[in-house]
Amino acid sequence: MDAAQTDTSPTYDLGLDRFPRVALCHQPTPIEPMVRLSEHLGGPSLYIKRDDCTGLAGGGNKTRKLEFLVGEAVKANADMLVTQGAVQSNHVRQTAAAACRMGLKCHVVLERRVPDRAESYEKTGNVLLDALFGATSEFRPAGLDMNAEAEAVTAALRAEGHNPYFIPGGGSNTVGALGYAACAQEIARQSDESGLPFHWIVMGTGSTGTQAGLVAGLHALDVDLPVMGVSVRQPRERQIAAVHKLAAASAESLNAPTLPVRKILVDDGYVGEGYGIPADSTLEAIRLTARQEGVLLDPVYSGKGMAGLIGMARAGFFKPTDNVLFLHTGGSQALFAYENEILDSLD
Ligand SMILES: *Cc1c(COP(=O)(O)O)cnc(C)c1O
Repeated sequence: MDAAQTDTSPTYDLGLDRFPRVALCHQPTPIEPMVRLSEHLGGPSLYIKRDDCTGLAGGGNKTRKLEFLVGEAVKANADMLVTQGAVQSNHVRQTAAAACRMGLKCHVVLERRVPDRAESYEKTGNVLLDALFGATSEFRPAGLDMNAEAEAVTAALRAEGHNPYFIPGGGSNTVGALGYAACAQEIARQSDESGLPFHWIVMGTGSTGTQAGLVAGLHALDVDLPVMGVSVRQPRERQIAAVHKLAAASAESLNAPTLPVRKILVDDGYVGEGYGIPADSTLEAIRLTARQEGVLLDPVYSGKGMAGLIGMARAGFFKPTDNVLFLHTGGSQALFAYENEILDSLD
């Protein structure tokens, strides 16, 4: 009998080869223990999945989604990527870089979603990098249907003779979510190979594709690992409904059984005043993670996600013996657009 026949360990294969895809991402990203932060909090055992190290333009979670989205764009013979986001969008930065990598043009529509920003906000951080990658941009005031705005821009570009490919905000549709189904497969394999079981995944959740893809992937693999999304912008019930809608559609595209809504877990206790406005708990999480682990978080997403993890640990939400995996979704490029808040929060 050869090894293949005697090996009964699961392979965790979602058959993602059947979807168009381009290689943009360093993967697998490492899983590292956060020894000092775990000790500081008095348990549980914390680990970090380094999706801030996906390798494209400073990394972040959008790179995994873009592998599948740009795969579709290439299949459609697109000459240009069009997308939208808030002014300091990490998704826009990674899309602009992916366009460079693939020899495509990139045009972005930026929403002035966050009120009362310093003057530098529209010049530094991700905005600076979008310009460096040669993306052209236009701005909108807050509160519009931004996907509709960007689709109208896409139609106008098409009428001018371009062949643009439209990517929705955050890359959050069933195509983009495949990137996080791939990540679910990767985490299941890493856990298996290292003999380290995880009891929870905790992450920031915004436009929903990351949590939806992850939950759909784990569900399709029949891996029982709860994912707690820490909302960065909207109340729990609305975020659960939005994540579930995409997760259910993603499960379907993976030929998995129906995904029940009870699999979507969201905590909205760390949003603060709203999207893009760091709460005191956000700033504390950024400072603590920097000083205990030498890891950079961001003021919009991963800082709120980590604030949730810290808050849950302090509240005794986890068992002391749990291994809790924080999904680091990136975003530290936006730190520089929040210099005043960061400086004020330091002791
Ligand atoms: C976009 C983003 C998220 C949220 O992911 P969604 O798929 O939009 O929910 C989290 N962290 C960072 C750094 C992001 O840029």
